[in-house]
Amino acid sequence: MIKPNIYMDNNSTTKVDDLVLEAMLPYFTEKYGNSSSKQHSFGWIAEEAVNKSRNQVAALLNCEAEEIIFTSGATESINMALIGIFNAYKTKGNEIITTTTEHPAVLATCKHLENEGAIVHYLNPDKNGIINPELIKSVISDKTILVCIILANNETGVIQPIYEISKIVHSLNSILFSDATQAIGKIPIDVKALGIDVLCLSAHKFYGPKGIGAIYKRRKNPRVAIKPIMFGGGQENDLRSGTLNIPGIVGLGQAAEIVKNEMSLNYDKTNYLRENLEKELLILGGKINGKSSQRLPNTISFTFNNFTAEKFIKKTKSFLAVSTGSACASTKQGISHVLKAMGVSEEEAKSTIRFSLGKNNTIEEINYLIEQLNAEN
Ligand code: PLP
Repeated sequence: MIKPNIYMDNNSTTKVDDLVLEAMLPYFTEKYGNSSSKQHSFGWIAEEAVNKSRNQVAALLNCEAEEIIFTSGATESINMALIGIFNAYKTKGNEIITTTTEHPAVLATCKHLENEGAIVHYLNPDKNGIINPELIKSVISDKTILVCIILANNETGVIQPIYEISKIVHSLNSILFSDATQAIGKIPIDVKALGIDVLCLSAHKFYGPKGIGAIYKRRKNPRVAIKPIMFGGGQENDLRSGTLNIPGIVGLGQAAEIVKNEMSLNYDKTNYLRENLEKELLILGGKINGKSSQRLPNTISFTFNNFTAEKFIKKTKSFLAVSTGSACASTKQGISHVLKAMGVSEEEAKSTIRFSLGKNNTIEEINYLIEQLNAEN
C-alpha cells in the first residue's frame, strides 16, 4: 500500500534535493561570511562559494560565469530585465513584443512599462499554444527594443520555437528575453545556440531552494545593457545591490549541477510517467491542451469530460497535490489566461487540471491515482 500523499505539482515548486540541502547547511553555520567582506577568510570562503555557483549555473546554460547575476528568483529577474532594458534603450525605441501566455510576472511588468511610456504588443498563440514566428515578423520594427517570449509554458508545458524567433529578433538588432523558469533542468538550454540574450530562472523549480534565482545577460555580440532597479552596495556588478544570499546561491549552484548531470535520466523518467498518465486520462475521457506541440516531458494540462476541476480536486485532495492552473493563478478567481488565449472555452477551462510530474514520482503513484479515479467514476 503506497502512502496516499502524491505530489504532482512540480511546476509550482519542487522538493529540495538532499544533496542541495547538504551543500547549503554549512553556509548557515560555520561558513557564515559575507562575500563582500574582502579582509578575512569568512568573506573569502563565501566569495569562493559564490564563484563556484556562478560557474555551475553558467555550465548549465552554456554561458560565461560573468554573464550570471544572482537575484531572489524569476520574478525579480523578470522585473530587472524588462524594466532595466527599457530604461537602457528607451531613447532608441519604446516598443516591446510579448505574448498573452506569459507568466504574470512578465505581464504585470509590461503593464507597468506601459505606464512608463512603452508600447507593448501582445501576441496570441495558435490553438496549440505556439507563437508563430511570422507574427513577430509582422509587428517587429526598428523601434522594438525587446521581445519577451516564455521558453516553456508553466500551465501547458508548450515549448516555443525560440531559435527561429531569435533569428527574427536579431535581424532587427532587438533583444530577446526568454523566461526559462519552467524549462530549466527539464530540457537542455544552450543560450548561445538558441540565440537568447537575457534569460531568467528560479532555483526552486529544479530541486533547489526558494527565494534564489538568476538572470543570464549576454556580455558580447552584442553586449546587452540593463539599468539597475536596485541601488546600494553595488553587488553583482552594480546590477543587484544587497548582501548576497550565500546559502541560497550555494543551493542554486548545486541544483544546477545536479539537474545538468541528471537531465537525460529525469527527462526519460518524467516522459515515461507522463505518457502513462496521459494514456489513462484519455481513457477516462478528455483532452490534452497543447497535445500536438513540443512540450516539457513532465507537464499535462488535461481537460476532463466528466469532472469539473472542483469535483476532481474534491475527489482527490486527500491523497493528491495538483493544481487547476499555475500556483499564482490559482489564488485568483477567473479562468486561466493561458488556456483562454489558446481558445479553450470557459467551461472547458473550469474542467482543466495541471499535472506536473517530477523526478520523485513513480509509476505506482500513477496507478494509484487512476484506480481512485476509476472507483465510482
Ligand atoms: N515564470 C514562470 C514561467 C513561472 O512558472 C514562475 C513561477 O511559477 C515564475 C516566472 C516566477 O517564479 P518565482 O515565483 O520563483 O519568482
